[in-house]
Amino acid sequence: MDRKIESFIQWIYSLRGDIASDEAIPAKPARFGDWPALDARLIEALRSRGIERPYSHQSDAISRTLAGKNVVIATPTASGKSICYNIPVIQSILNDESSRALYLFPTKALSQDQLAELYALIEETGVQILTFTYDGDTAPSARKKMRAAGHIVITNPDMLHTGILPHHTKWVKLFENLRYVVLDELHTYRGIFGSHVANVIRRLKRICTFYGSHPIFLCCSATVSNPKELAEMLIEEPVELISDSGAPMGEKRILLYNPPMINRSLGIRTSSIFEATNIAVEAISRNISTITFTRSRLDVELLLTYIRQGLAKRGLPGDLVAGYRGGYLPKERREIERSLREGKLLGVVSTNALELGIDIGSLELAVLHGYPGSVASAWQQMGRAGRRSDLSAAVMVASSFALDQFLAANPRYFFGASPERARLNPQNLYVLANHVKCSAFELPFSTTERFGNTKIDEILTYLERQGVLHRAGERYHWQADSFPAEAISLRSATSENYVIVDITDVAKPTVIGEVDRPSAPMLIHPEAIYFHGGKSYQVMELDEEGMRCYVKEVKTDYYTDAELAVRLQVLDVFEEAEGWGWGEVLLAAHPTIYKKIKLATHENVGYGHVHMKEEQMHTTACWFTPAEAALSLMDKDSQSSALAGLAHLLRGVAPLFLMCDRRDLQVHSMVKDPFLNKPAVYLADNTPGGVGLAEAAFGLRKTLIEAAAESVMSCQCEKGCPACVGALGASINAKETARRLLSTFEVT
Ligand SMILES: [Zn+2]
Repeated sequence: MDRKIESFIQWIYSLRGDIASDEAIPAKPARFGDWPALDARLIEALRSRGIERPYSHQSDAISRTLAGKNVVIATPTASGKSICYNIPVIQSILNDESSRALYLFPTKALSQDQLAELYALIEETGVQILTFTYDGDTAPSARKKMRAAGHIVITNPDMLHTGILPHHTKWVKLFENLRYVVLDELHTYRGIFGSHVANVIRRLKRICTFYGSHPIFLCCSATVSNPKELAEMLIEEPVELISDSGAPMGEKRILLYNPPMINRSLGIRTSSIFEATNIAVEAISRNISTITFTRSRLDVELLLTYIRQGLAKRGLPGDLVAGYRGGYLPKERREIERSLREGKLLGVVSTNALELGIDIGSLELAVLHGYPGSVASAWQQMGRAGRRSDLSAAVMVASSFALDQFLAANPRYFFGASPERARLNPQNLYVLANHVKCSAFELPFSTTERFGNTKIDEILTYLERQGVLHRAGERYHWQADSFPAEAISLRSATSENYVIVDITDVAKPTVIGEVDRPSAPMLIHPEAIYFHGGKSYQVMELDEEGMRCYVKEVKTDYYTDAELAVRLQVLDVFEEAEGWGWGEVLLAAHPTIYKKIKLATHENVGYGHVHMKEEQMHTTACWFTPAEAALSLMDKDSQSSALAGLAHLLRGVAPLFLMCDRRDLQVHSMVKDPFLNKPAVYLADNTPGGVGLAEAAFGLRKTLIEAAAESVMSCQCEKGCPACVGALGASINAKETARRLLSTFEVT
């Protein structure tokens, strides 16, 4: 087995590109602990499931939980985290039949997988422990039984928010006896979603207190740099961290491959998508099970098409490999997951949709087409290839993006970097006020009551003035007619989806997929080419009111790439120092034109105009103004390109230091900002209301300027390239102008 991967790695060394780094992560033997005092039936059940002894981290987690501590388990994928929470939960029910537990998973697919394992363990104990999944698909007849008799209720935060908490009077048994709350995939509770979930937990705890229970929280997280802090922000109680995994791991090789340079002065390398295709095709034809990750849904479809073409050239069937991404229908996704587990598929091309704990078995190779944008994502994607005993490998193919090239030049930044800090802001006023409303609907507030640890008297008086609450003596009661939770989505940015309808056969329109609203301007504007499962369709009509997109299957040799016009407007300044500031901004975007790009060669073969409504977002941003003296020496065009270059540089390096994903940030530049009345470069938090990135960037301003300077100095191009200041054309020396502006900062 091992020889197969070793000879494949030798083959990679024979390619023309550079191996920027090749790290070996040594195999790790298992370390075991002991079971704490458990019910004999449980020990026996574990034994018959083939689990004789717990790994050290499992034993640690179970003991601390049974001792009444909240814990967060942050160990690698496939280290057996579910044992850590299933054991204390089952133990408590064996001890006391009335004991209850609530499991929260961020998505539905996950809970199905974990359920199978839990069921098997329960069955072995021979005791009737009723476990139910409560989600949108649950039949009304089952719901009643679940409320009265369910020991373990498995759901997601959205259902807890709209389906359970507002109806707590029907769930008295659950809330009176709630012993454990399990929060799995904790790292997904970040950004605006995490801010909502923190408030849903405040509501949950408030209801528990009302019914006299005080549940223990059992959290599990993949790689983030601050699991303990994240868990404590979410539940507002002390949490103990368990991060030293005792699970065994096979040896792993991690290669960072940089495609060969074909034009040094322009800094152009061969296309990373072709290089990734080549590597995946070679691996699959060597019978190595391979997962290829890429950053966008369009790239999934392009890579899938190219890999199938590559396999066909070698006489291999194209259906050895499938695509997987958001927007495929659930049934289609489950089918692909099953085929991967059963080894019927040898390859899959995916976005980060497959990063989460979805069970696809362990593969031998992960190919990352481009740095996924964050350290944690990169480790998670690379972790998809990995066996308990055999050698596995991950190859990251650097793209021309700035961060990719920065890491290829400085791989120590990747291997030395701590993973991202998961950020959330439960005090985001918009989020907080909405959940105070929901909570007031559930139970009246006393005038001095806190919500979690937060004082909310001002929000309560505001809601009274709005006629939502009614004050009677020392209590606020709900008085509006509406049901507040229904109108509040926990995933505000992605809650609305366009439905893609195939009208190739007009008599038989078929729904083939979905696209979330923020992605629509790029992916499904009128006349766009939309790819799905390797087939191409053209958008015939986009119904923006009805959220429907009508497509027809077409044969095409091009794809489309839309350009967005972005508008940023400073609304309020919170803090200023040394030419920097941060505050509230309005970010608006709409698509203007689309380019037609030829599939095989990536040549631009035409364009068209797009008319769609502007999408607006209020958020926070950090900005800075380069010294006027340095700018005044330049003409307007040079000023504009120097500022755009600086923005591009910052976009490249900032995610590493802010410990966030590159998609969490937007950059922008203006030669004369009408509000600030001067030239400015902005780094905006890409989440409605912001999650604290703008303030963090303001605090790290010196570091960011130093990193930007290092990035531009170390770039091998002459006048600017996508890896540093962006591809602005050779006529403008953006690299030099950006460097000049940066040097004025070093003086101050
Ligand atoms: Zn460059």
